[in-house]
Amino acid sequence: MAEKTGNQGILEETGQLAFDWKCPFCNHNATITTHSLRLGHTDFTLEEAEENRRIVTQFILCPNPQCKKFTLEAHLYELFWVNSKQWMGGELIKKWQLIPGSSSKTLPAYIPQNIVDDYDEASAIVTLSPKSSATLARRCLQSIVTDFFKLKSGNLVEQFGKVKSKLDPLSWETIRTVMTLGSIRLHMEKDINVITEVDENEPELLISLIEMLINDCYIARQERKLQLDKIKKLGKSK
Ligand SMILES: [Zn+2]
Repeated sequence: MAEKTGNQGILEETGQLAFDWKCPFCNHNATITTHSLRLGHTDFTLEEAEENRRIVTQFILCPNPQCKKFTLEAHLYELFWVNSKQWMGGELIKKWQLIPGSSSKTLPAYIPQNIVDDYDEASAIVTLSPKSSATLARRCLQSIVTDFFKLKSGNLVEQFGKVKSKLDPLSWETIRTVMTLGSIRLHMEKDINVITEVDENEPELLISLIEMLINDCYIARQERKLQLDKIKKLGKSK
C-alpha cells in the first residue's frame, strides 16, 4: 500500500464549494464559500492497520463583520484503497464539534449522574444534532422531576402540572411560557424517547429549563442544608 497524505484535493473531494451555514456564536445565517473555509486532512494508511481512516478538519470563519469568530470541526471517514491506485474517502463515521465546545455548566457532584450525563450531552450537540439534543434534554427534565419530586408516571406536561405548586412561581411561569412556544408542548407530551422534529431554539430553551430546575431544586436544597448545618454548629459552640 502506498501512503498519501497532505491537504490537496480535499475541496474537490468534498465537492462543496458553497453551503448554507449558521454561526453558533452570533446566530447569523451565511453562505460559506472557499473564502471563509479551510479544510485539511490526514489519512491513516498504515499497512498493518486493520482499517484505514481519514480525518478532515474544517475551520469556518463567520463572515459577519461584527462577529468574525471561527468554528472548528473534525470529521472521521472510512478510507479505501481503490483500483490499486488511489485512496478514496467513504462513509462519515464520527463528527466532533471542537470550537465552540460545549457551553454546559459544570454541575455539582451531588446531582444524580444520569441527569449530569444527559445535560452534558444535550449541551454538547445543540448545533450538531438539535433533534437528539432536544430528546436528551426532555429525558433530563423528566429525570429531574421523577427524582426530585418522586413522580413516577405521566408525560412531561402532566408531571409539570403536578409539581407546579411546589415550584418557584417565576420558574413555573418560565416553564409555562416555554410550553406555549411552537410545538414544544406537543413534543413534551410524546414519549421522551421518541426523537421528534424540533422547533428553532427548542434545544437551547429546554437546556435553560434544566439549568433553572437544577438551581431551584438540587442546588437550593443543598444550600439550605449547609445553612442548617452552620446554624446547628453555631448553636453547639455556645
Ligand atoms: Zn458569527
